[in-house]
Amino acid sequence: MAAPQKGDLSASERRILQVITAGDVQEAAQLLASKEVRVNCLDEYGMTPLMHAAYNGKADICRLLLQHGADVNCNQHEYGYTALMFAGLSGKTDITSMILDAGAETELVNSVGRTAAQMAAFVGQHDCVTVINNFFSRARLEYYTRPQGQEKEPKLPPRLAGPLHKIIMTTNLNPVKIVMMVKENSVLVDVAALEKCYQVMDLLCEQCVKQQDMNEVLAMKMHYISCVLQKCVASLEKQDEKLDTLVKCLLRGRDSDGFPQYQEKFIRDCIKKFPYCEVTLLQQLVRSIAPVDIGNDPTAYSVLTQALTGQVVFVDADYCATCGDRGADKWCSLCKAVTYCSLSCQKLHWFTHSKMCRSLQDPDADLEKNTPRLKEIKEDESNLVTETANFLQELCLRAEEKVAAAGGCPADLLACSSTSVEGPHLAPKTEAEQ
Ligand SMILES: [Zn+2]
Ligand SMILES: [Zn+2]
Repeated sequence: MAAPQKGDLSASERRILQVITAGDVQEAAQLLASKEVRVNCLDEYGMTPLMHAAYNGKADICRLLLQHGADVNCNQHEYGYTALMFAGLSGKTDITSMILDAGAETELVNSVGRTAAQMAAFVGQHDCVTVINNFFSRARLEYYTRPQGQEKEPKLPPRLAGPLHKIIMTTNLNPVKIVMMVKENSVLVDVAALEKCYQVMDLLCEQCVKQQDMNEVLAMKMHYISCVLQKCVASLEKQDEKLDTLVKCLLRGRDSDGFPQYQEKFIRDCIKKFPYCEVTLLQQLVRSIAPVDIGNDPTAYSVLTQALTGQVVFVDADYCATCGDRGADKWCSLCKAVTYCSLSCQKLHWFTHSKMCRSLQDPDADLEKNTPRLKEIKEDESNLVTETANFLQELCLRAEEKVAAAGGCPADLLACSSTSVEGPHLAPKTEAEQ
């Protein structure tokens, strides 16, 4: 059959476009079964039936068209829009996922050079941006479940692929959440299994950096997950058999204001260990995080989340204080200042929240409640500040070495070194103290 031409539609093909807009799944199925409809036919503007269905937010019809072989990467639209772009514009995350699962390429650009994620962001469909930015095909992971070349065993035992893929696809980067996902699957709560998993994550990270169109976002995410998995291994090796101690460490708030400084430091550390210092995203993260005192906004968690998922973490929004899941609809009944997604998350948090709960209840503490992140740095935190400064210096050194080794120009590093000059010691405290 010849390739479809724009606007060259049979009566049935014109009919199916109307049927799609109306959302009539049954008639669409009949028309497709009749063989009088080419599933990739093009209207005057170069839109396929799938593009129409995606733009109109008709998930069932999208599924049907995909079953009939609709081409997800057709790029004949007059402005170069793809089905994925239309899905993103519609704001339907289910359709966006479906089209990604069917093999849509995320890097295709329209006539003004925008990708699907950028288009969705442009019209404020941030949930779709998150879905696109965090998509990672199961097939790409399953590659590692088969022995390659000389290997006698695959790098990833097939039974680990499912649970690991679930972690890769998470859009909640709270380390507590990731540890909980590990705990959920008994096959993962095992040193040998986790070692295989993080080694594969490291390989994927490298791949994302070295591939032709570097995917910095995915590379950072793979690296971050690898770090959390490595932390789990270290904990298991310290007889923390169910990883409960690790979860507690990540949740424990400091005495002064309940801020989980271990978690903050852990996330900063993960970013610091990212092995490809030439990556722009790393430099951006460092620049956003390094000047911030531990406990002030933005937290490393919110900066990382925004960079990797495109979502802004709002303070006091409906996030679970324990696992970071959205849509938390339960309050601590005593202080009503902290939200949770479930009773078990509240119970997990109580050992540390109990120290803060009272002061949050006290009406005199209200003033303080509004500025809990502006506390004076206590002695126990000064180490962290120094470490952050060292971290920056080290990063710059590594970058310089790298540039020197490559015989390149160090100009790019200027931005990096200036960050360390602005360093974390300089943040004024006067306003916070009064
Ligand atoms: Zn929760
Ligand atoms: Zn409370």
